Amino acid sequence: MGKRLIRSWLEHPLMNISTINNRQSAVEELVNDNMLRLEITDNLSGIFDIERLMTRIVYGSANARDLRSLCSAITNLPSIANLIAGCRSSHLKLVFKNLDMLEDIHNLIDSAIIEEPPFTVREGGMIKQGYNAELDTVTSDMNNSKYILAQIEAEEREKTGIPKLKVGYNKVFGYFIEVTNSYKSQVPENYIRKQTLTNCERYITPDLKEIESRILGAKDRSVAMEYAIFDSVRTTVADNLERIQKTAKAIATLDVLVSFANVASDNRYVRPEVNQSGSIVIKDSRHPVVEALLKDAPFVPNDVNLDNKGERVAIITGPNMAGKSTYMRQIALIVLLAQMGSFVPASYAKIGIVDSIFTRVGASDDLASGQSTFMVEMNEVANIVKNATSRSLLILDEIGRGTSTFDGMSIARAVLEYCADKKKLGAKTLFATHYHELTVMEDLLDGVKNYSIAVKKRGDDITFLRRIIPGGADDSYGIEVAKLAGVPNSIISRAKEILADLEGGKSELPKKVPVVDDEPQLSLLGAAQSPVIDKIKSVDLNTLTPIEAMNLLYELKNMI
Ligand code: ATP
Repeated sequence: MGKRLIRSWLEHPLMNISTINNRQSAVEELVNDNMLRLEITDNLSGIFDIERLMTRIVYGSANARDLRSLCSAITNLPSIANLIAGCRSSHLKLVFKNLDMLEDIHNLIDSAIIEEPPFTVREGGMIKQGYNAELDTVTSDMNNSKYILAQIEAEEREKTGIPKLKVGYNKVFGYFIEVTNSYKSQVPENYIRKQTLTNCERYITPDLKEIESRILGAKDRSVAMEYAIFDSVRTTVADNLERIQKTAKAIATLDVLVSFANVASDNRYVRPEVNQSGSIVIKDSRHPVVEALLKDAPFVPNDVNLDNKGERVAIITGPNMAGKSTYMRQIALIVLLAQMGSFVPASYAKIGIVDSIFTRVGASDDLASGQSTFMVEMNEVANIVKNATSRSLLILDEIGRGTSTFDGMSIARAVLEYCADKKKLGAKTLFATHYHELTVMEDLLDGVKNYSIAVKKRGDDITFLRRIIPGGADDSYGIEVAKLAGVPNSIISRAKEILADLEGGKSELPKKVPVVDDEPQLSLLGAAQSPVIDKIKSVDLNTLTPIEAMNLLYELKNMI
């Protein structure tokens, strides 16, 4: 239930500051009390999905096991209520108020349904003894049939004085009383003769027939009665839907708040201050997921400073793999978490609430619906510029990369101008790009600032420092990253040659393809004619001392 609610909170972040504060205060209270949090978590783990159980109960598809699950979930309610009874935050107080102990429902199910009922509801065996007197009689008839028959036999022997009178059963006549021929004369009048055998007669009586129908029908009747009783319990529970759902909602809310508190406490999250200032100031922000997945290196935290004035748009440049996407996404996630009422992964956060977060990230095509990668990207851009407002947060990751360089750069710049311009959109925007030409926008547009992610370069190797710093980056270091990724050396060095040509002022790619001479075919003849080979051929290995061998090797090396 908590999982569904957390999803719904994620999908419906809040804009009302006091509601956000209410949730935060509840989380704070739980963060500050480790014992309370642990005990609540413990008790919550025994609670089943009451909402889903109720759906089955209301639709009449729940079985006796479902009722028992509901009953056992209800068992945990008093201890949960006890735990939060003393909480001071208004949200936890509300949870407490909405928790109905549902004792009547618990007692009803507990008194009617056995502890471990069968899966099917049409074969009986699920109603507790003592719940329904009529059912108990039917069941005892069924279970005591031998005893009842023995009792009848004894009674009839006594009444008639026939010592060898027997009660028997066959499929044709059902239950009968058998009397040997020698006692035939003592048979009372109410006996009805049914069958004559060589040395005995068989009779029935109205009483015996009644007992017979009780015994033989008992099984069917008990199954039918059990189902009717079960169904009426299920209907009574269903009639209490509203009360039970309210409690389920309270439990789900508590589950989410405790989860927020657990995550905050385990990962050093802080309570963000939310306000209407329009600025987003975060110190030491971290990406909650990347941080959790990083095993070998620590996550490097970074600051954020965005507002509606001079720091509205951040152009982020930097090498591939430097952490641009991670940085932008962590800011969007932190804002989202804050507007859900959660604590955030940072050492300090002051967040002016936004009316929406728009993202253009990742390159995924949607071939099945007939859209190319670039088309998907442009659809998203179109949606953003149509729907964003000056109070939105925009995350634009490498706009325009899906087409030719000039087209891409032109689109990127036009989108950037549109987002930055207060008369058009003027929204807080994080804009990552490899088009370094766009860094000039800092001087051309109001509210635009350049940032980059620091790297250290030594020779061909680069080290990612993961630190966001003011100013644009000078290079994408794409070739170095390709080398890091394991692209073969021959391709890397050729790429460097082409890059040098391009950077040397030749704006076109080289017209010629180099002659492949890296690994020339070995000529056996040519090799055989080498002076080194001649020298080796002339040596008599059997007479060579170790020192001479060393000297020879030295000489050969020099010749080469
Ligand atoms: P590209 O331009 O190629 O898309 P990028 O600059 O967007 O690259 P990211 O995808 O954000 O780079 O990051 C690459 C990897 O670097 C991440 O998967 C993560 O493992 C690591 N990383 C990113 N930021 C940090 C950080 N602050 N601390 C530690 N590791 C990080």
